[in-house]
Amino acid sequence: MNKELLTQLCGIDGVSGHEDAVRGFILEQLKATDTPKEVTVDAMGNVLVHLFGKQPAAHVVQMDAHMDEVGVIITHIRPDGMLRFATLGSVDSQVLFGCRVRFGKQIGVIGGKAVHQCGGDDKKKVPSVDHMVIDIGCVSAEEAEKLVRVGDTGTFDNTLTWLQDDLFCGKAVDDRMGCTLLLELASEQPERDIWLSFSVQEEIGLRGAGVAAEAIQPEIAIAIDSTTAGDTAGSTPDTAVCCMGSGAVVSFADRATLYDAALYRKIRELGDANGIPTQTKNRVAGANNAGAIQRSHTGVQMAAVSLPCRYLHSPSCMGRVSDGDAMLSLLRLLAEELTK
Ligand SMILES: [Zn+2]
Repeated sequence: MNKELLTQLCGIDGVSGHEDAVRGFILEQLKATDTPKEVTVDAMGNVLVHLFGKQPAAHVVQMDAHMDEVGVIITHIRPDGMLRFATLGSVDSQVLFGCRVRFGKQIGVIGGKAVHQCGGDDKKKVPSVDHMVIDIGCVSAEEAEKLVRVGDTGTFDNTLTWLQDDLFCGKAVDDRMGCTLLLELASEQPERDIWLSFSVQEEIGLRGAGVAAEAIQPEIAIAIDSTTAGDTAGSTPDTAVCCMGSGAVVSFADRATLYDAALYRKIRELGDANGIPTQTKNRVAGANNAGAIQRSHTGVQMAAVSLPCRYLHSPSCMGRVSDGDAMLSLLRLLAEELTK
């Protein structure tokens, strides 16, 4: 997989409903490759790519990745210049305290009651977002309003950092890894036609991908995403969900989708037969665009291929290139096998 492309994509800001800069970058990248394709952008902002193969496909196969990332939105500016906010997408408040967030060029820090000010049971509790503020260093609402407005959205102020050659961490890995892999697929002419969608607004309820699927009307679809690897502190194999470094995650179920059982088995077997490491999720956890695509049009045979990612939906999502490589090899193979 293309590490440089992942780094660039993770560095772009694009919370749900504000994917413009990510979309712009993706459209530029698509333009720069000379593979035969038709690219359209729908009214919601989904990017749809019909990638022409050397021959027509026997089955319409859609591969989807979402462009948006989790973030925050300013809901109120207090008289003391502090910003009240809500999260866009599901963000565990445990990871928020002390985080830097960025509204365009304006940086703020998420704060709240300091631990030495908490008494009794409060010390043991994780404060909710309702008890936090974003501090941009202003002392009055008038001063803050010159820099930000209610309704402004922010992202974590973390670019992708390489901890080792094979190991990265940063914001927006979910799902810029998927976008990276789709762009790599789009740069090679497949044997048979495939359809790609870079969708909007996944993190706030799988809103864009279903619309994309209505346009494409796939028979078979694959949601390409990141999923939580809980293989850290004190976890056991049955609670880890999946493990970083153990290959592409192929799901049989999550909270939004019961995947097509025959397709699930076929993908695991294809991985095994071709020396591509795959694993599954051993807990029914999380959800992704599969939930919307599966129920579109007249129904879709659905699969999901995900990156095992630690600290998902945090400023420091951690993952391995080897897992991204396994995903890309698997997706190339599926583009070939599922279109026959
Ligand atoms: Zn995702």
